[in-house]
Amino acid sequence: MSHVFPRHTKANLPTAVAGDGCYLIDANGKRYLDGSGGAAVSCLGHSDAGVIAAVQEQVGKLAFAHTGFLTSEPAEALADLLISQAPGDLDRVYFVSGGSEATEAAIKLARQYHLERGDTTRRHVIARRQSYHGNTLGALAAGGNEWRRQQFAPLLIDISHIAPCYEYVDRGEGESSYDYGQRVANDLEAEILRLGPETVMAFMAEPVVGATSGAVPAVEGYFKRIREICDQYGVLLILDEVMCGMGRTGHLFACEADGVVPDILCIAKGLGAGYQPIGAMLCSRQIYEAIESGSGFFQHGHTYIGHPVATAAGLAVVRALLDRGLVQRSAEMGEKLHAALVARFGPHPHVGDLRGRGLFRGIELVADRESKTPFDPGLGVAGKLKKAAFEAGLICYPMAGTRDGRNGDHILLAPPFILSEDQIGEITDKLEIALAQVLP
Ligand code: PLP
Repeated sequence: MSHVFPRHTKANLPTAVAGDGCYLIDANGKRYLDGSGGAAVSCLGHSDAGVIAAVQEQVGKLAFAHTGFLTSEPAEALADLLISQAPGDLDRVYFVSGGSEATEAAIKLARQYHLERGDTTRRHVIARRQSYHGNTLGALAAGGNEWRRQQFAPLLIDISHIAPCYEYVDRGEGESSYDYGQRVANDLEAEILRLGPETVMAFMAEPVVGATSGAVPAVEGYFKRIREICDQYGVLLILDEVMCGMGRTGHLFACEADGVVPDILCIAKGLGAGYQPIGAMLCSRQIYEAIESGSGFFQHGHTYIGHPVATAAGLAVVRALLDRGLVQRSAEMGEKLHAALVARFGPHPHVGDLRGRGLFRGIELVADRESKTPFDPGLGVAGKLKKAAFEAGLICYPMAGTRDGRNGDHILLAPPFILSEDQIGEITDKLEIALAQVLP
């Protein structure tokens, strides 16, 4: 019996021992097609020679430097590369160790930005009900997923949650997509006015919602309206691209598809592609200058900030994405995967919606297609599907998510960008086996 404290103490799961391209291999030699890239992490697959070599070289050269040094060569190169690709006036990169730390740091940076400008009243963050921003206390408070927050509620800072942009479930009869997007975006203005504009420091959202709803992009115009509202009231826009960023949606930065530039942008997961734990927070020149010309010190910083080996891995990952055309490949293979899912599962009586961008795809499962009624959560449909798919040799990321307080099951697919057409077939074949077992 191992002394590891696993997250699920009652689950009896195999141990992963090796990775090979899009596959993971367990201790019995069984191969699993990694249809979810872990949790939308492994964008390059599990045996990328370039990233492995970069990590090995860096660990041999300089593994760690902290006190007395501000940055390292790979950290500087990675920051420059990210900024050369980033939209708008995003200008600086603050390195962290993962997604939760990125969103946590974003909240703190928003507060400090306002303080540095002498604005001491702004303390509220607004986020959305259908969201996940991480598992540390600040990030958990920002997330709109009640079941995750419930038991920690007394420990969480007060963050208010407005409606998500979730067209499949919430668009009204006869309402156009555009009008729907404007209507829900205007919830932000209403909430800012309710709290008092002088008290609101930031709004946080995922451009394409991941784990809580299964690859839900906003409708056209939604984020443009959000940007307008933020500008009008001096509220910073924080976009959380921890899951949907780094090429996952067919754009290096997911917000490019929405035509908006945030003030702060959080990335992680695909940045390290699973080879190293790393995240980053990008911010605008204006925010950086407020700190630089003010206290000169951002009051956040963990021991492993800008870790040389982690940033060397991130640099090799981003170079691979750009040099090998893998962001474009995510877009193209994403369309092929979507077409295959529509062909195979479009007519399925329990498949309500097929959606997403690039290789970030969601399948919403419903008890009744006509009324879009979700399954009784007690049935545990998502969990059963995950298990059946896993047994068939496919890893997918099902979630029993909440739809604004109601329940809903979905499957999230986020395979490596090196996925082949044959492997798209393998995903649909194995999903079909799993679906036939769980929802015959
Ligand atoms: N933000 C989003 C959108 C996420 O999907 C996640 C993780 O799933 C996080 C933040 C937290 O990232 P991490 O698990 O690396 O702390």
